[in-house]
Amino acid sequence: METSAPTARESALGFTEGVRCGWLTSDLIAWCEEHLVRTERLLLSHPGPLQRVCEHEVGVVTLQPSSPEARAKARRTTNSAVPRILEGSRHRVLQALRTAIDTDQVAFVHAALLASTVVRIKRADGLAAWRVRLTEDIALSDQVLALFALDALEHPSDYANELAVCDACGAVSLSPARLGSRHGCTRHPFGSCDTPRSRSGTPPHGLIVPGSIDESLT
Ligand SMILES: [Zn+2]
Repeated sequence: METSAPTARESALGFTEGVRCGWLTSDLIAWCEEHLVRTERLLLSHPGPLQRVCEHEVGVVTLQPSSPEARAKARRTTNSAVPRILEGSRHRVLQALRTAIDTDQVAFVHAALLASTVVRIKRADGLAAWRVRLTEDIALSDQVLALFALDALEHPSDYANELAVCDACGAVSLSPARLGSRHGCTRHPFGSCDTPRSRSGTPPHGLIVPGSIDESLT
């Protein structure tokens, strides 16, 4: 892996925040190439670029077909399928992260280990390390959750104390400088309380940092 390769956290947050801000097919292809293929987290069974992505309950979409006929057909299906795959993946990832916050259990980490999308390896220097190991046939949400899982294995306290998913906008944060609730973000410090519709109908719970409220409401 290149020394300048993005960390698992950078790659995972790049996906959740990118999709939240309205990714197009080209953004997905670029992210897969930079964060999965080039980093050798995803090993292709064929030469050339990533050809397809899949998602639970959505299906498979061909990104870069080889023949002109397949390309023409793929353009039609890609236009409608990729946004559904992106939103479906992000929704499933946010659900897993919210469950971790609500239950204090990182079930998505256990799932990644069970599925061997995160594995223990021995590095060249003899030290043990975690590694993300993916293929094209693994659902996009599971690929992203593997990145979060590796990050959680390397930084467990961040996931026990700092992980936040905003109920208002879906922003994911692992920042130690997080303000307000673990169901909020810097723009919506108290998550669903900042919007007319609450996710659960009850006030969000979590830490409130004394002295930070005024600043976070700006
Ligand atoms: Zn928010």
